Amino acid sequence: MGDAERIEEACCGIQFGKDEFKPFEEKLRILNKALTKGKIEVLQVNLGYRCNENCLHCHLNAGPDGTIMQEEVMEAIVEVAKRNPGLVVDITGGAPELNPFVSNFLEDISPFSKEIFFRTNLTALEKRWDLIGLFKTIGVKLIASFPHIREEKVDFFRGKGFFKRALRVLKDLTAEGFGWKYPLYLMVNPTELALVKSKGSLKETFRDFLITYLWEDLKSIS
Ligand code: SF4
Repeated sequence: MGDAERIEEACCGIQFGKDEFKPFEEKLRILNKALTKGKIEVLQVNLGYRCNENCLHCHLNAGPDGTIMQEEVMEAIVEVAKRNPGLVVDITGGAPELNPFVSNFLEDISPFSKEIFFRTNLTALEKRWDLIGLFKTIGVKLIASFPHIREEKVDFFRGKGFFKRALRVLKDLTAEGFGWKYPLYLMVNPTELALVKSKGSLKETFRDFLITYLWEDLKSIS
């Protein structure tokens, strides 16, 4: 099955009105809204398009051959943080773990930042487990994307075997204290045009699912 057919399959049954996707500027005009710049509070840094995964739905076209942000650009960003102390720094990619300058960047920007968020697809941490100690030392808040609680849905978009590997990393993070001693947020970025279908809240659905998978680790913690 080709990519186009797979996308069609995932989106089938959903009809869009032809007026729903107006250009952004036109929408603003219709709503009589103007965008104005406020005080900068968050510095989002994309460390590059390199990723260990090659997801079908990736809006950045990230993948193993993706380019990375160079060290001199990262140094310039640290200078910006120095001149504006107290910003929230939100680090993303690609898989930011795969930028070889990432540890220096974290160490350098940390003293000037109010908080540091670090977005991970989980499996990239398999290759950079050495970062875990640094995350703890400087209080990095991990945001892990975990798109769905059904293996077939996740593997369809992220590649066969991803689901089990991501869960394994989540277990290892739990054992290291993330999610109970150190901050770890799970982020659901839908693989389809709808979120996970659940009877209760999304949070309860994920919590019940993860308790089942992480039970042995959680028992040893409590
Ligand atoms: S894990 Fe994220 S950044 Fe990497 S290819 Fe998939 S969607 Fe793109």
